[in-house]
Amino acid sequence: MNPENPRSPDQEDPGNPSQPPGVFLGTFQKIEFYLDFSWFFIAALVIYSLSTFLFPQEIKGLEPAAYIIMGTVSTILFFLSILLHELGHSLVSQRCGIPVPRITLLFIGGIAEISREPEDPKTELKIAVAGPAVSLILVVLYYLIARGCSLLSFPEGQAVFNWLSQVNLLLVIFNAIPGYPLDGGRVLRALLWMRNGKFRRATFVTSRIGVFFSWLLIGLGIMVVLGGEWGQGLIFLIIGIFLKSAAENGYAQALSKEILDGVGVIDLMTRAPICIPAHLPLNFAVDDYFLTHHHVAYPVTEEDGRFRGLLRLEFLKNIPREKWPYTNVGDVAEANDGQLCIPAATSASNALRILLAAGQGRLGVVDDAQKLIGIITRHDLLHFIRIHTELEE
Ligand SMILES: [Zn+2]
Repeated sequence: MNPENPRSPDQEDPGNPSQPPGVFLGTFQKIEFYLDFSWFFIAALVIYSLSTFLFPQEIKGLEPAAYIIMGTVSTILFFLSILLHELGHSLVSQRCGIPVPRITLLFIGGIAEISREPEDPKTELKIAVAGPAVSLILVVLYYLIARGCSLLSFPEGQAVFNWLSQVNLLLVIFNAIPGYPLDGGRVLRALLWMRNGKFRRATFVTSRIGVFFSWLLIGLGIMVVLGGEWGQGLIFLIIGIFLKSAAENGYAQALSKEILDGVGVIDLMTRAPICIPAHLPLNFAVDDYFLTHHHVAYPVTEEDGRFRGLLRLEFLKNIPREKWPYTNVGDVAEANDGQLCIPAATSASNALRILLAAGQGRLGVVDDAQKLIGIITRHDLLHFIRIHTELEE
């Protein structure tokens, strides 16, 4: 179980510090390793089910502590296996020139944050195959260790490594399903992309297979829950839902990347937007702008045209009305949204990423002298994507 996240473009871009995704484990080959908090929950669940059900069934009559040790060792090695699988993807990706800032272990597998989509299908293929190749090596390795334990008459070790071998094999089989964003789906996407040269089409086909497969999992989960095995059913359901959104997001990202490729904010922005002069008191801004033009936000500029920030209606709520005549617009805008501008040379896909990451609706567009030349909104970009999608399909 190891669906990786859709590799969103330009994540390595500076100036976009995202939340640390859990417990920091360490750094290896410039990759940061994190343990998501959900991991502790699932690890406890795996240890519990191994030490109370599986191992006592296989080897009878051991002390309870022995089962718990077996369960704990198995669980740790299992997650280490997932980590190695992700490391396989990551090291190949780095060798192909695509940085991987971090790997996060989640409750249903791992995520290697490969910073951007590969530029060519060959690279995609290499990166996709590397993870399962590592897992296959682990299958054989654990199997051989289990055989060794059996020769040494060490049944506890044999049971642990047999389980590890099997579970890694399951991981390989699950990942072989040809639905994006699973590894098999990435392999299929690379092959389709190689054959007809159409990245988006290949992503579309494989993500549809991914969505189809996740519906199967969800259906299976519901059936299993109704059959009374709610624990297992719930796991299927969770994986199915997670996969479905990953498959859909992956396609949406590929689509917007392709449509926005080669387009700049300068092509899509609104030129010469209505600006509020920075020196204006708030009460005038309300009367002459918010109540007159009906926008919810305005760029604020200095007399020489330099961008000072965005003034959004909601900022006014925090300032008592009696202070409005003595508070100037520039200070309020700068204190809140002074950073919300991008250079005119920014690509449209980068602008969309910044807007989404900042949770913002609009950004000021400035020239080299920091003078405001336009406004770009999330709506502008999404509208552009929608028009193109509808024209092409
Ligand atoms: Zn993988």
